[in-house]
Amino acid sequence: MRIVLLGAPGAGKGTQAQFIAQKYHIPNISTGEILRKLIYKNTVLNKKIDYSMHSGKLISDDIITTLIRDRITCLDCKPGFILDGFPRTIVQAKMIEEEKIDIDYIIELKIPTKIILKRIQNRRTNSIEKKIQCLQNGNYPTNNSFLAERVDDKEKIVKIRLHEYEKFTIPLINYLKNDTKVKKFKYCILDGTKNIKNIHKDIKKILDVH
Ligand code: ADP
Repeated sequence: MRIVLLGAPGAGKGTQAQFIAQKYHIPNISTGEILRKLIYKNTVLNKKIDYSMHSGKLISDDIITTLIRDRITCLDCKPGFILDGFPRTIVQAKMIEEEKIDIDYIIELKIPTKIILKRIQNRRTNSIEKKIQCLQNGNYPTNNSFLAERVDDKEKIVKIRLHEYEKFTIPLINYLKNDTKVKKFKYCILDGTKNIKNIHKDIKKILDVH
């Protein structure tokens, strides 16, 4: 089962991708995570990636398509995978087509910008478990001393990320929805404002029939 998860920054893709990977036993390929691991290595290419990520811009299609092409053609991806954060542009989607990899489901998590801004401002990453945590009733679920704000979660940067989403990913969404040539995938839109468990249920309704 090959799945693509779409949605603006803060729509909850990461949380749902983890759920899908565990439930359906497929690798979770998160471009954000792959890139964040890379920037610790001090090379010219990684510095370029670091700069784009910290400024809220998308990194170049060349770099990301090479990374993801290498990853999705690995042996463990044969039974399927979940892509969180890829494709984000039409060029990236075309790479998947060129590789002749058929996607079964595209799941879009839809959520208004106002709610996104609020969510992102409140989210923290647990430096030990590497899990994203959100404010619940004014508190974070684990020990606050291990929680750090992602640099790209600062308000100014978030606005740039949302702008990149409008500029590149909305046209991609239109392209995918109108892709009459090879519409092998099922395109599903889910309400990303629902709570995590209810979104799990919506996802199960789609994927359990596979
Ligand atoms: P979010 O989905 O909340 O924006 P991610 O962790 O998926 O967060 O991505 C963080 C950053 O990594 C993006 O703002 C961008 O700079 C870079 N990135 C991730 N995926 C892609 C992609 N497919 N193409 C270009 N840049 C990407």
